[in-house]
Amino acid sequence: MKSIPFLSFNKMHGTIKSKIQQAFENVYDSHWYILGRNVELFEKQYAEYCQTKFCVGVGNGLDAIIIALKTLNIGKGDSVIVPSNTYIATWLAVSYVGAEIIPVEPDEKTYNINPKLIESVIRSNTKAIIPVHLYGQTCEMEPIMQIAQKHKLFLIEDNAQAQGSMYREKKSGSFGHINATSFYPGKNLGALGDAGAITTNDENLYLKAKTIRNYGSQKKYFNQVKGINSRLDELHAAFLSIKLNYLDEWNKERNEIAQWYFDYLKDIPEIILPHIHPDCTSNFHLFVIRTEKRDELQNYLNKYQIGTLIHYPIPPHLQEAYKDLNYRKGAFPIAEKIAETCLSLPMYPGLTKDDVEYITDKIRKFSK
Ligand SMILES: *Cc1c(COP(=O)(O)O)cnc(C)c1O
Repeated sequence: MKSIPFLSFNKMHGTIKSKIQQAFENVYDSHWYILGRNVELFEKQYAEYCQTKFCVGVGNGLDAIIIALKTLNIGKGDSVIVPSNTYIATWLAVSYVGAEIIPVEPDEKTYNINPKLIESVIRSNTKAIIPVHLYGQTCEMEPIMQIAQKHKLFLIEDNAQAQGSMYREKKSGSFGHINATSFYPGKNLGALGDAGAITTNDENLYLKAKTIRNYGSQKKYFNQVKGINSRLDELHAAFLSIKLNYLDEWNKERNEIAQWYFDYLKDIPEIILPHIHPDCTSNFHLFVIRTEKRDELQNYLNKYQIGTLIHYPIPPHLQEAYKDLNYRKGAFPIAEKIAETCLSLPMYPGLTKDDVEYITDKIRKFSK
């Protein structure tokens, strides 16, 4: 029987294998493994890609958000607005610096934070908004930026899922005062292990973030602030420089695959398809459909060896880790509804039209 995994690196990593091996040898032979020319070069390339002045390579996406918050001096006594439906990392970063979380529900169609609901939850101690470009589609940045400006709030994009996506004419990761991204292997721009980055146009924030990621030190053994150790490795930087050259091509292929899904699934009434806002684009990090019979559909597809995942089965406010906040079921009904009905279909460069036809054919059979 045909078998289609949820994610496959076959095509992507097959294409670049010899270049990656060469990069490995170069770093290996250089005998320089932390904060060297590969990190510097990738930071320059990634900043340019995001249309920002500066980039700081860090250890992972969670650290990128934590360092962004620390750079802005956000901590105990402050509160931060985050979406109610996000990967838990966004929430954990806010908790980690000791700030309070103010969740805001998403728009029911785009699944991104609903700008209309932000203003009413702002408190006197609110310092920042962290919009998350979920599943790859950018948030509606204009209204969010207006609110941030009006209330003097910092804006931090969580751009872990949307590398290369646009809002109007600008790239994701270029809107906030300081922005965070993740190069977790499964992200559209993925390292071969954990990695992340910060982007900003503000030189002071850049210098401060760079200091914090390296023990709070600019000069070896002179520590200005209580920083952390979260540096992008030379090896990953070298790999990421290679993969960055392919990001647009791979995002384009994901968009073609998404178009096939749209075409094949559009006339099945039980299936809610992704909705892309006219001002936004998506890099289709994930292709997420929704149906009331989600668990049954997932089991059905599983029988045909079609891999699917749920992003995410439990919203942060109902996670055991957040039981101290005492949120009950029903506190954020839109986030909860998405969690109960969403299903991510296979999506990666190399997925063929035949594959999509096979997958959607099974979804159609299930729906009948
Ligand atoms: C992946 C992800 C992160 C965290 O990135 P890591 O590199 O795994 O720490 C943060 N936010 C979102 C929305 C993510 O998808």
